[in-house]
Amino acid sequence: MNRIIFATQNQHKVKEISSILHPGINSVSLADLGFLEELLETGSTLTENAIQKAEQVWDSFKLPCISEDTGLFVKALNGAPGVFTARFAQRENSSLSNNDLLLEKLLDHNDRSAYFETCICYKDTAQTKLFYGRLDGTISIGAKGLQGFGYDPIFIPDTYIQTLAEIDLDKKSEMSHRSLAFKSFEKWFLAQFF
Ligand code: IMP
Repeated sequence: MNRIIFATQNQHKVKEISSILHPGINSVSLADLGFLEELLETGSTLTENAIQKAEQVWDSFKLPCISEDTGLFVKALNGAPGVFTARFAQRENSSLSNNDLLLEKLLDHNDRSAYFETCICYKDTAQTKLFYGRLDGTISIGAKGLQGFGYDPIFIPDTYIQTLAEIDLDKKSEMSHRSLAFKSFEKWFLAQFF
């Protein structure tokens, strides 16, 4: 079975991915490997950050790995927070402050459309490949729901009336930016190695 390191320290992402990926792909998390270093994301695009994280993990293990970087792009804010999505409120990993700040910034805007985008980088000894997924929706008026993580409580996917945090993980996995990117990776990977 092909073993791939999933280069993330975010256990929510690990959970999402394990429910998405083909059973023939054995993904091992950094936590499983006892790797506790912070993954750097100092690039100016999702793509640069995804490559940077894959290279950091490759340098440590020299094993095939996949990394991902996700951003939320809000039309009324000219695409912000974008590549700064995690650090929007200047407090690392503080979803509550990020969400509050975004709701505050949209108070005077009628157009609340936004999208999540994920870039995945797969790296092995021979190649570096990129895959993308996108989920369109709107930012809600207030936070709702207890599932998921990050901006899920304030993001309503198109054709839904609930936020992502009110939608079961299985349902989120059918449509999310991350799962679309991983499905595209999986299709390529299975054709390549199986
Ligand atoms: P990163 O890709 O881990 O750098 O995440 C960027 C930011 O987007 C973090 O604040 C995450 O909490 C948030 N984020 C990433 N994926 C999702 C998602 O699927 N739903 C909601 N927020 C997310």
